[in-house]
Amino acid sequence: MKILKPRFISPELKLLRFLHSRMAFPVDDLRRYENLEKGFKGEQQFDKWSEDILIDGLILNDLLYEVNKTFFQIDSVLISQGTLFQFEVKNFEGDYCIDGDKWLTLSGSTIKNPLHQLERSETMLKQLLQNSGHNMHIESYLVFINPNFHLYNAPINQSIIFPTQLSRFLDKLNRTSSKLNGRHSKLAEYLVSVQTFQSPYKRLPNYEYDQLAKGICCPRCRAFMGETLKCKCGFEEAPAAAILRSVEEFRWLFPNERITTNGIYEWCGGNVSRKVIWSILSKNFQLEGHGKSAHYVKVN
Ligand SMILES: [Zn+2]
Repeated sequence: MKILKPRFISPELKLLRFLHSRMAFPVDDLRRYENLEKGFKGEQQFDKWSEDILIDGLILNDLLYEVNKTFFQIDSVLISQGTLFQFEVKNFEGDYCIDGDKWLTLSGSTIKNPLHQLERSETMLKQLLQNSGHNMHIESYLVFINPNFHLYNAPINQSIIFPTQLSRFLDKLNRTSSKLNGRHSKLAEYLVSVQTFQSPYKRLPNYEYDQLAKGICCPRCRAFMGETLKCKCGFEEAPAAAILRSVEEFRWLFPNERITTNGIYEWCGGNVSRKVIWSILSKNFQLEGHGKSAHYVKVN
C-alpha cells in the first residue's frame, strides 16, 4: 500500500486552533471546533490502522469535490485492483442508539444519519468516475474508530465497521489479491486533480486583531509560553523558531496585513525584544519599502 495523498490538518482546523488560544469562542463555534479536533484525531487513528494494509493499493486522504453544486468530502479512499474503497471515519464516543432511520445520543438528541451521508458520497463518487470514463466497483464503509463507541439496536449492515471488527476487516482485505497498473495510477491522479477548494476563512468565528490575546503560543499544548519560551507542559523553544511560528500564525490569521518588526513584537506579547525580532525577520524575509512603510515579505 502506498499513500498517494497524505493527511494534513485542515486549514480550517489550523486557523481555529490559532484563534482558540487567543479568544473565547461563541458556543456554536466552540462545539464545531471541538468536533473538528475530535474528527481529526479519529482520522489519525484510522491512518494508523491503515498502515497495516498490505495489498498493492493507493490511499488518498481528505478529498473534497463539488458535484451538482453540492460539496462532498471523503475521508479516505483505497484503490485496489478491482475495488475502490471509500471510508467515512467517525470518532463517536459513548452510547448511541438507532430508532428506525434516526440516530440518537442516549440523552435523546438526534444526529445526522451517517449512513445517508455515506450513500450520498458513494452516489457522487460514482458520478465522478462515470464522467471521467473510469469504471470501477465501489465499496463504501462507515468506520467507527473509537473503541468506546457503542450503538444500541445496531442493524446488520455490511457497510458499518465497528471498532471490534476493524482487525478482521483488515485480515480479510489483506487476503484479497491486488496488482495495480497504470490505469489505477491514472484514476488516482484524476481523483486528486478534480478536487475543489473551499476558503477556510468563511466559517470562522468573527475576529479582529485588537480582540485577540497576544503572546507566543506553545505548539504542543497551545498555552502562552511567556518570556522564557519554556512552556508549563515541558516544551522549550529557541527564539527564532518561536518567532517564525508566531509570524506564520499572524500570516494565516491576517493574510492581508503587513509584517513589521513592531507588529510582530506586539503580536508576540512583548516577550522577545524588538532587536531579536528584527534580526530574525531580516534573516528570513525580504524587506520592502522604506521608513514607515517598511515591511517584510516572504521569499519563496
Ligand atoms: Zn505547552
